[in-house]
Amino acid sequence: MLVLSGGTGTPKLLEGLKNILPEEEITVVVNTAEDMWVSGNLVTPDIDTVLYLFSGKLDTAKWWGIKNDTFMTYEALRSMGHNETMMLGDQDRATNIMRSDLLRAGYSLTEATQELARAFGIRSKILPMSDDPVKTMITTPAGKMHFQEFWIKEHGKPEVIEVVQEGIEKASISPAVLEALEKEEYVLIGPSNPITSIGPILALKGMKELLRKKTVISVSPIIGKEPVSGPAGKLMTARGLDVSSAGVVDCYGDILDIMILDERDTYGISALKDAACKILIADTLMKNVEKSTALARFVVDALDF
Ligand code: GDP
Repeated sequence: MLVLSGGTGTPKLLEGLKNILPEEEITVVVNTAEDMWVSGNLVTPDIDTVLYLFSGKLDTAKWWGIKNDTFMTYEALRSMGHNETMMLGDQDRATNIMRSDLLRAGYSLTEATQELARAFGIRSKILPMSDDPVKTMITTPAGKMHFQEFWIKEHGKPEVIEVVQEGIEKASISPAVLEALEKEEYVLIGPSNPITSIGPILALKGMKELLRKKTVISVSPIIGKEPVSGPAGKLMTARGLDVSSAGVVDCYGDILDIMILDERDTYGISALKDAACKILIADTLMKNVEKSTALARFVVDALDF
């Protein structure tokens, strides 16, 4: 199975999926539009969350970073007046240093990610969506800023006027993703932010055409009129989408074959009663690994593996 992923909701589902499918059978195509150079190194938040999940290192209390990491370098930099946009842990920074050194030595992001996956003993394929840089920028009344600045430094508070993925027109789907897509029949779009996580993957040239040939199943990240977490609501509104599962279906369009809604999502269930895709209902709130595994089982059964 090929999974399109961002950094929180989909990794929760991947935690369940790896309990029921052999790891070698899972390929994850990961958003890179939130990547950012911090203190000389490239941080790829969504790729790292997926790498740490599969290697058992992930801090699943926060769904980012390495559990029990220390922050000595971050604090030392801060004491010298160098305030980093992201609070990077020391071990997490080691991942960023290795990745960036490989990039500086001429590796592509895909190759650098493969080296990290090998170092962490991961058997699933974890593939950046593209080897070309793409950057999600948010226009606010105070000006344009990188998504990370909006979300971490500004705590997602400014009004959002526009969301743009800079570099998307020139970015290509990576050769490794193209090869993986050729082999896979089923694609799962996890419950991730439809604008900043899944949006950039779908906006790559040719991606929607390729996905139309597959059986695509998705889990909605919205229950009722609110995302389960994160800024998806504000960003969907800025794109003129209803903040609901119906808005997510609108956003993904005709690539979707099946959409799974939460059993508490009465608004979405009613709004999508005549939807063009098949609607299934399940408990999608992944509060623990048992819930994640049950939802992963539901997805796999829906595809009749
Ligand atoms: P973020 O919006 O920047 O946090 O982007 P992510 O791509 O990391 O995705 C988080 C999305 O996953 C949010 O829109 C959440 O609503 C959704 N999400 C998180 N946890 C769950 C969950 O347990 N169930 C469902 N259905 N969605 C979830």
